[in-house]
Amino acid sequence: MKKAVILLLSLVIIIGVGRALLKLPAVQDTLLERGTALLAKRGTAPLSESENLRVYVCGSASPLGMGQAQACIAVITPEHFYLIDSGAGSTDNISRLGLPTSQLDGLLLTHFHSDHIAEIYEVNLNSWVQGRPQPLTIYGPQGVDEVVNGVNASYRQDRIYRTGHHGADLLPPAVGVLEHKTISPGVILEDGDLTITAYVGEHPPIEPAVGYRFDYRGRSVVISGDSNVNGNTLKIVDGADLLLHDALSLPTVSALSKAMGAAGQSRQSKIVADVMDYHASAESLIELGEKSDVDMVAFYHLVPVPPTSLLKDVFLRGAPDNFLLTEDLMWFELPIGSNDIVVNRP
Ligand SMILES: [Zn+2]
Ligand SMILES: [Zn+2]
Repeated sequence: MKKAVILLLSLVIIIGVGRALLKLPAVQDTLLERGTALLAKRGTAPLSESENLRVYVCGSASPLGMGQAQACIAVITPEHFYLIDSGAGSTDNISRLGLPTSQLDGLLLTHFHSDHIAEIYEVNLNSWVQGRPQPLTIYGPQGVDEVVNGVNASYRQDRIYRTGHHGADLLPPAVGVLEHKTISPGVILEDGDLTITAYVGEHPPIEPAVGYRFDYRGRSVVISGDSNVNGNTLKIVDGADLLLHDALSLPTVSALSKAMGAAGQSRQSKIVADVMDYHASAESLIELGEKSDVDMVAFYHLVPVPPTSLLKDVFLRGAPDNFLLTEDLMWFELPIGSNDIVVNRP
């Protein structure tokens, strides 16, 4: 008992001394120097620091977000860096993950709902400032030209300010202007060992809405964008290692809509009920897993993000062990020459 009291007192004194030390400018300056040195190293690692296929969750949420960023996935190989969608909050996560945006090759859009395109310009600005040597190309289905032209026009003055302030050598004006490329279903890009294939999803009334499959040296990942499960999903996941799919918890969304209706919030109740017909339910994804040979299914674009372990359990009700819920900053490593998928949690 006496020993415990002495230990507790010692702990209190140590914490007190520690707090007092943190108030000293010399100690603050030393910590500042160390902290900024660590910060400065973020995002500078070359892509080739690993030979594996890597997939990062820079946005796991839907508009029903609960503190997580909206849709964004990064796919990285030793030679490539692509982003799929850039919803609100995603650029911050890209920075927190330390991804080397100066080496960003392109941004692929699945469709043009706001939760997938909100930070196109933030991604552009961030990678331009980091030294991306060429203009950023935004890939997407029909309509991508309208989106990109709009972003370029909205931020024309911002680009002028940035170049005016930092100089054209550091921020060449032409590199800040986005380019666009309209894609069609099928192989959209072959670059060395990487093949990217687009497929048509089902997200009515949005047409077209596409998803993408990445194949790299025998490893593969499919990213759905917003979609129900349909025949195309079954085809595209054939032989795939990892599927990141838009997922909706029917029990939760139904309960939410019902509760809103009972509380007199009829508008909100209808809107929440409407989303049930154009996102894949967890049940439909479990069925897909049974019909296909995909190795791992990771739910993202969560409708809604489950804030408690109870709601996580409800979301994954009936799901087998190779299913999981993503969260921001989670990432997957798919080693070349192996069937392993390493899941790294933040
Ligand atoms: Zn959508
Ligand atoms: Zn969405």
